[in-house]
Amino acid sequence: MSENIETTKCLIIGSGPAGYTAAIYAGRADLQPLVYEGLQPGGQLTTTTEVENFPGYPEGTQGPEMMEEFKKQAARFAGDIRFGMITDVDLSERPFKATADDGKTIVADTVIIATGASAKWLGIESEAEYNGYGVSACATCDGFFYKGKDVAIVGGGDTAAEEATYLAKLCNKVYLIHRRDELRASKAMQKKVFETPNIEIIWDHTTKEILGKTEGFSKAVTGAIIENVKTGEQKELTVDGFFVAIGHNPNTDLFKGKLDMEDTGYLITAPDSTKTSVEGVFACGDVQDHIYRQAVTAAGTGCMAAIEAERFLAS
Ligand code: NDP
Repeated sequence: MSENIETTKCLIIGSGPAGYTAAIYAGRADLQPLVYEGLQPGGQLTTTTEVENFPGYPEGTQGPEMMEEFKKQAARFAGDIRFGMITDVDLSERPFKATADDGKTIVADTVIIATGASAKWLGIESEAEYNGYGVSACATCDGFFYKGKDVAIVGGGDTAAEEATYLAKLCNKVYLIHRRDELRASKAMQKKVFETPNIEIIWDHTTKEILGKTEGFSKAVTGAIIENVKTGEQKELTVDGFFVAIGHNPNTDLFKGKLDMEDTGYLITAPDSTKTSVEGVFACGDVQDHIYRQAVTAAGTGCMAAIEAERFLAS
């Protein structure tokens, strides 16, 4: 066989909590998994700072450090963890075939997809500058750091509504900034938002700039400049945290037309399982979960995917 063709019992695509956990379980089950980490090894957690809600870290930890630990643990058991992208897959017959950007063709008995999702961002310069320093796309992850403070959240869908009500329980005041004059969120979620006294909805506004300060090696958000889309009038909000909740894009372009997915692009898995529409292909983590999107749930489904791959091979 050419040196550019490799075989594996289990190819894992992606390397957030789901991919690395799948690697730990598949490795310990002697599947000698081959992991292609993707463009952002460690996934979305590498763009956060403090993580306090992952069990086992009583003092909390830093997202990037936690993912380094995940990787080290995965490397103890997984055959091979590589920095690189899978650029094409053929899932039409078994064994499956995948092409990697290092020129290799991987022939795999099972495939575990853990390519995650990417938060949508507003795309303004200051948002990137303060990302992880007051700008966040996950209120459940980072809301706690703004206890008793004033924060803003952008969006008008269910995520923004749900996260605004979550933040309202922790924070002094929550400004919900929406670009239109009605919310897209479900009526039930809208009702919750309207009935929460410390949420103030700022209709018809977009964010022009996120303001902040630099303190030594650290940075912090101090406010935002927002603009009324109807009048063009700008005003400044004073906030310590700025949350963006304008949706996520699952990283599933590679699987279009090859696996069943929802209209929104999330891979469809069987109930209580990580099985996709192709036997022997499993999906775990945010690529198949638009509801919970937590590191711990991603790790849980990563474990499920490896166990299901092992059982599939054994049958
Ligand atoms: P959605 O796509 O439903 O909503 C995104 C929101 O962000 C919209 O209000 C949109 O405005 C706004 N938006 C998009 N781009 C920009 C931008 N560049 N600048 C400013 N605002 C912007 O995403 P969600 O994450 O809220 O929800 C995704 C799916 O998950 C939905 O189907 C939702 O129902 C579901 N979900 C369900 C939950 C539940 O049942 N508990 C909880 C969370 C999500 P506009 O309205 O003008 O388009």
